[in-house]
Amino acid sequence: MSTSIEGMQPTSDSQFQAAAGDGVPPLERVRDGLFSYGLRQPGTLPHFTLSYLLLDDRGGVHLIDTGWDTDENWAALGEALGALKHALSDVTSVTVTHLHPDHLGMAARIRAATGAPVALHRIEQDGIDELSAPLADEEVLTRLAGWGVPEDRRAELLQAAHLRSRWPSFTADRLLEDGELLDIPGRAVRAIHTPGHTAGHLAFVDDEREVVFLGDLLLPNQFPGIGLGGTPDGDPIDHYLASLAVVSELDAFEALPGHGYRFTGIAQRSAETASHHENRTSEVAALRHPSSTVWDVAAQLTWTAGWSNLSGLPLLSALSQTSLHEERAARRL
Ligand SMILES: [Zn+2]
Repeated sequence: MSTSIEGMQPTSDSQFQAAAGDGVPPLERVRDGLFSYGLRQPGTLPHFTLSYLLLDDRGGVHLIDTGWDTDENWAALGEALGALKHALSDVTSVTVTHLHPDHLGMAARIRAATGAPVALHRIEQDGIDELSAPLADEEVLTRLAGWGVPEDRRAELLQAAHLRSRWPSFTADRLLEDGELLDIPGRAVRAIHTPGHTAGHLAFVDDEREVVFLGDLLLPNQFPGIGLGGTPDGDPIDHYLASLAVVSELDAFEALPGHGYRFTGIAQRSAETASHHENRTSEVAALRHPSSTVWDVAAQLTWTAGWSNLSGLPLLSALSQTSLHEERAARRL
């Protein structure tokens, strides 16, 4: 038996092709009684979310992540269920990895139509409550000033903050804790608390089928952002790196992510992702000097879209990611 870390390998051609182009992967079998399909994200990247359907031994269908709430996706859910010889009324539970609208998405609509209970982590419910509360302009403007954002860019970022905070309020039916089993008759799928991307992010492990549902904890083709939910208790980057270490232990398992394509090689991808963030902290540490602001530091970092092209939400997100790395670098001194 080899103990070396195997490289990452896609395990679905159709998902891999869709992720590389602009298509959305069709319904496909992952294991007996376990299927996945893609749901389009309107006007944002990545361009699709992967949703998973698990069939129980009593004729029920259980969903993990639901995709963005659009009529197109609602129709796609109906088609996927139909292709499996099931109806919407067979959906008996919905579980979401985290609060973002591409994952929690259609949960409220599915619950309204079927009565299926929705489960998420207890801390994620706190995040939803926090993000759906009205945003105080004064607080945002103080933070932007603290980051050294030039005055003529603050209105744009305040608007972006409002956009990001426009969360519908939502109350889950079941609040999960680390280690608890999902309510799926005949299947043992356990929740593991994997904070970082959001404070109450969950992954789900099926030990018997050797699969792990990752949500946005670990993706094959991009590095997920950190600290994008409710206010975390502690450093979300440290939480995130600890979560990566937890899933690294499942290297023999097939990874079922929230975007991109399913793959093997969890340990190697976790290591790459962790070093991306460690490097970012070091890069920020090297750029800091007593009078530099988050804005100054962010302007000197490399961004996929290019710093001068960033505006609105992507700019706000770049600044908040930089400030997390800055606070972390400061603690290291
Ligand atoms: Zn996502």
